[in-house]
Order: sequence, then C-alpha cells, then structure tokens
Amino acid sequence: MAALEKEIATLPKHIAQIEKTLESHIRRLDADRAALAANQRDRKKLDGDNQLHNQKISKLREQMAGAKTNEHYKAFQNEIDFIEKEIRKADDRILELMTESEALDGNVKKADAALAEEKKSVEAEKKQARERTAADQAQLDALRAERTTAVAGLPRATASTYERIKKKWNGVAIAEVEAGRCTACQLMLRPQYFQEVRKGDQLMTCENCGRFLYYNPPIQVEDAAKAV
Ligand SMILES: [Zn+2]
Repeated sequence: MAALEKEIATLPKHIAQIEKTLESHIRRLDADRAALAANQRDRKKLDGDNQLHNQKISKLREQMAGAKTNEHYKAFQNEIDFIEKEIRKADDRILELMTESEALDGNVKKADAALAEEKKSVEAEKKQARERTAADQAQLDALRAERTTAVAGLPRATASTYERIKKKWNGVAIAEVEAGRCTACQLMLRPQYFQEVRKGDQLMTCENCGRFLYYNPPIQVEDAAKAV
C-alpha cells in the first residue's frame, strides 16, 4: 500500500516535469519564429528603402544633366554619392540578415519536427500515467478493503501495536528473520529468542527495532522435489 501510494503521488510530479520541459521548448521555438519574422520584416524594409533610393538617384541624374554650373553639378554628384553609400550599407545588412535567417529557419524547422515528436511522447506518457494511476488506485482500494478485514480479525492490542510500529518505521511493521538476524535492523537475535520465533507459537517483536518478526524455514531440496 505504501509503495502504491508513493507511486500515485509521484506520477503527477513526473508529468508536470515533462510538461514543463515541453513548455520551455515551445517557448524557444516561438522566440525563434518571432526572430525570423522580425528578420524578414527588416529585410523588406531595407529592400523598400533601396528602391526609393534608386528612384531618387535616377531623378538626381536627370536634374544633374540640366545643371548649369560646375558647382551645381558637384552638389548633385555629392548627393548621389551619399545615397549610393546608404544603398551599399543596406545591401551589407541585407546579406547579414539573410545569413541569420538561414540559421533561424533551420532551427525553426528542426525544432518544429522535434516538438511534434516530443508532444506525442508527452501525450503517450500522460496516458500511461493515467492508466497506471487508475490501476494503482484499484489495487490500493482492494488492499485497503483486505486490510480492514484483516484488522477486524486481530486482537485490539495487536492492531494498535502494529499501527504504532508502522508509524515509527514509516510503513513497514514486520521483518523477516534470516539466519537468526532481523533483516530490517540487522540485529542478531539471542539464540533462545530465535528459537521462540522459529516455533511461531506467539507473536514476537524484534528486541531492537520493535518490528513483528516472522520466520520462513528454508525449503529442503528433497521436500521441494517431493511436492512436485
Ligand atoms: Zn529489528
């Protein structure tokens, strides 16, 4: 019962953990998608700027053709040079953005595929956990009913001693004796005491840890063979 209760309590924690991990992967993908969209917006904006700049240069060239003085001509040329410099700067930035965009695009595609797999496996684990919990709960209910019947058949003093030991040792109130030793606390039983436990005439507790002791005599190979 203690093991079942522990598992029932542990499963939701496990599910919460894998859901949290999934959530963080979704957030990372969203961030990459947002960065990719921003990258594309920036490129579009720069392309648009360049178009406008080129139009402006054409117009300046037309005006330059009609320049009356050398000074006037030079002024147009300066303006054109300036705008061309702007266009080159934008082109450089567009190239940078394209390189970044390739990496981001790769990340997004990879994360997208991985995330689909992860979602599937999280769903599968959740389903498994639900089924496991339902089975554990059913088994626990059956054991509780069995326990109630067993407790009803015990002398009241024995039942209350059992409860006390169980509480003290966090769930397990009985221990097997093997080779004269309490397997729970490792105390070596006094030979006389061990004999009493082996006889099994009365309920006995470990003199060290207080757990109820039980003894399973070793099975003789010949006896086992006869039983078959
Ligand atoms: Zn003991």
